[in-house]
Amino acid sequence: MNFFIQRSELRNLYEKVAAGERISEADALRLFESKDLNALGAIADLAREKKVGNRASYIINRYLNYSNYCILSCQFCSFARKKRDADGFELTIPQMVEKAREALKLGITELHIVGGLHPSLPFSYYTDMLKALRALNDARSSGRESAPSEIQNPKSKIQNDQSRLTSAATKLHLKCFTAIEILHLSWLAKKTVEQTLIELKEAGLESLTGGGAEIFRKEVRSAIAKGKESAEEYLDVHRTWHKLGGRSTCTMLFGHVESLADRVDHLRQLRALQDEARANGFGVPASADPERGVHAASASENPERSKSPNPPAVKRAEARAPHGGFVGFVPLPYQPENNDIPVQTPPTGFDALRTIAVSRIYLDNFDHITAYWVGMGMKLAQVALSYGADDLHGTIIEEHIFHMAGATSPQLQTEMEMVKAIREAGRTPVQRNTFYEPIRELANAPAANETEPPSGKSKVLEDNLATA
Ligand code: SF4
Repeated sequence: MNFFIQRSELRNLYEKVAAGERISEADALRLFESKDLNALGAIADLAREKKVGNRASYIINRYLNYSNYCILSCQFCSFARKKRDADGFELTIPQMVEKAREALKLGITELHIVGGLHPSLPFSYYTDMLKALRALNDARSSGRESAPSEIQNPKSKIQNDQSRLTSAATKLHLKCFTAIEILHLSWLAKKTVEQTLIELKEAGLESLTGGGAEIFRKEVRSAIAKGKESAEEYLDVHRTWHKLGGRSTCTMLFGHVESLADRVDHLRQLRALQDEARANGFGVPASADPERGVHAASASENPERSKSPNPPAVKRAEARAPHGGFVGFVPLPYQPENNDIPVQTPPTGFDALRTIAVSRIYLDNFDHITAYWVGMGMKLAQVALSYGADDLHGTIIEEHIFHMAGATSPQLQTEMEMVKAIREAGRTPVQRNTFYEPIRELANAPAANETEPPSGKSKVLEDNLATA
């Protein structure tokens, strides 16, 4: 038994997790209230290891905000602007496509697109945007757009050609919109949420982001996000998406005015919805579907694929079992600047680590827990890999929402920084897709100090690296 557990007050919860038993809400609160961070981390690490083994992942992605104009004024939000504000912005569809085109050259596999609830853009703007981005990727896959030339990390080149995928294999995934945006779009389209999601899916939407969950408890919600959708509405948007065969992530904004019991209540509602999704058989990994996944079958399982000049680098690891509609959970540490919540400092390192750890232990029906480096900083996110997290999120490239609220992390992470952080933590780095499925494993990646100057192919990257 782990040294930290032997005399810990949390020993019986360690034994529960070791036996594969689910912990209760009272247990989760006890974990949150404990000061024994080492024991808590040991329990979370056990739960993580049982679930995902020694791998830790990251994604090569780009954030893209189409606008920060918003008809709401959530008290905690530092991102939203009104039309009268000088620093408001909105992008045209050609501008979105251009940013996506530039990011594709860097090897991204995901665009993560959110914005405010825009006061005047029509529903067609959103469907046209999805169609235009889909067409860009289709053109690239068919060879009419250039494939990634220099990839992922302008400061360092990972020489792992055997495991590098073709541009067709690394299909661009459109992960877009929070639940409140979906409600807004449904209102614009004058259609039900289900019909709206169907239309967005037909236009190119592939998964929903998890933003907007904040804290579900009504009293807290009205104190930090008055006018926003209710917890029931947030959960129902995701439930409807899962019923349509979609998958999504979910979040919790912690460290503001909520209590620890409020956090447990939030996790309880997410676990319940995930139970529901699993009971209904939602969330079969894309890799189990030959039409959808880049790792639909390993070469040994599919002789046709073994003839390919670019066979998949990583064998399919996941079974044809429902994993749930949520592919991962991302706890978000609150950022206190430029908003109306009376909190002076962001959550401490202790608070961030215990929240990751309790999430891993309590959310036993979630495969993946992400340490969000934008809010935690990369140093603490790396430590979180030993406190239940198995993912560091992504390169991001251009983050606005947390930085407008005072986050001091850089605007982007290079792939090599994430690989280095994972390897130092004793884990095997894996580049993943949006559904946390492996794209390539970097067990034998070169040392992290093998760097070279920026390639000069991306102005946004160069600007953001200059501020990193
Ligand atoms: S959190 Fe979202 S909905 Fe609320 S004000 Fe900000 S952008 Fe608008």
